Amino acid sequence: MLIRGGVVFDAGGERSADVRTAADGRIAEVAVGLDPLPGEQVHEASGKLVIPGGIDAHTHLHMPVGAVRVSDDFVSGTRAAAVGGTTTIIDYVTVARGDDPMATVATWRSWAEPSVVDWGLHLTFTEAVPESVVAAGVEMGITSFKLYLAYPDRLQVDDGTIVRLMRAARRHGALVTLHCENGGAIEELRREALAAGRTGVIEHARTRPAVLEGEAVGRAATLAEITGASIYIVHVSSAPALAAVRSAQERGVDVKAETCPQYLYLDSSRLEGPDAIDFVCTPPLRDPWHAEELWEGLARGYIHTVATDHCPFWRADRRAGVAGRPGGVTDLTAIPGGLPGHATRLALVWQGVR
Ligand SMILES: [Zn+2]
Repeated sequence: MLIRGGVVFDAGGERSADVRTAADGRIAEVAVGLDPLPGEQVHEASGKLVIPGGIDAHTHLHMPVGAVRVSDDFVSGTRAAAVGGTTTIIDYVTVARGDDPMATVATWRSWAEPSVVDWGLHLTFTEAVPESVVAAGVEMGITSFKLYLAYPDRLQVDDGTIVRLMRAARRHGALVTLHCENGGAIEELRREALAAGRTGVIEHARTRPAVLEGEAVGRAATLAEITGASIYIVHVSSAPALAAVRSAQERGVDVKAETCPQYLYLDSSRLEGPDAIDFVCTPPLRDPWHAEELWEGLARGYIHTVATDHCPFWRADRRAGVAGRPGGVTDLTAIPGGLPGHATRLALVWQGVR
């Protein structure tokens, strides 16, 4: 295949050039003025950018959530990724408490096999695991392990478990990724809201305030500081969280940060009105000024990646809720959370860069 007349972006910068791929799909030649070979497929790209395939480092495909399931499987989800210019995804395997981690990985691999783009896996632990599990993960090519500081009922681990995993990850050259929100405080705020009859979808944002994200990022970074671990904060959504990332980086902690298009482009006003339920994600959408801070954090290099946290649900499933009630969700805590992003991520980031 010959891609002709575009502006090529690669490690060498940007230049006008043609790109030829060989029969094995690999790039064979990048040069100016390439003529088509007999039988070669030619794509005219003048006025267009020719870029390397994107990597989306945070996705959830096929995943069951209570009685419902993420609406994209690895075929539809990776097709959307390909359309959006993403040629590699890294999906999160979540090991439920009591389940065997390697059996769960095997299940995920069977789901991921039909993907139309390249894929890798992260492994999420929801309870303490022996170091041998970390070693086995690294052995099979999984080099990043996730912990939650939120959702005490099914996902959250305590600080001691975090320290032990950080030490194990460091010994095996692996990365620890963390969902940072103060789960205990948030659950209390949510109980108070429900007890007071404050049940609107906007309470999703009000009961998960940005300062509790900032607190958890600061705590995770402090634990990385004492263990010497390399950490990666997923879906940084707010100014306090960014401030905690920056503070840790400035004192030499190896902390990388990710944000997502929804936090760069959408805000909490989406959580009011008839479609509010369709905009529930965690961390929640914030007041608009946080997005300005996140763009600034990207520009200055405090935030390293824009991933999607791609996790879409059918609108009917959102309304049925995680308990799958035919009469619909009874309160906001039963709404499955997550937003789609595969098809639009690169274009949205490019728009921001421009
Ligand atoms: Zn996620």
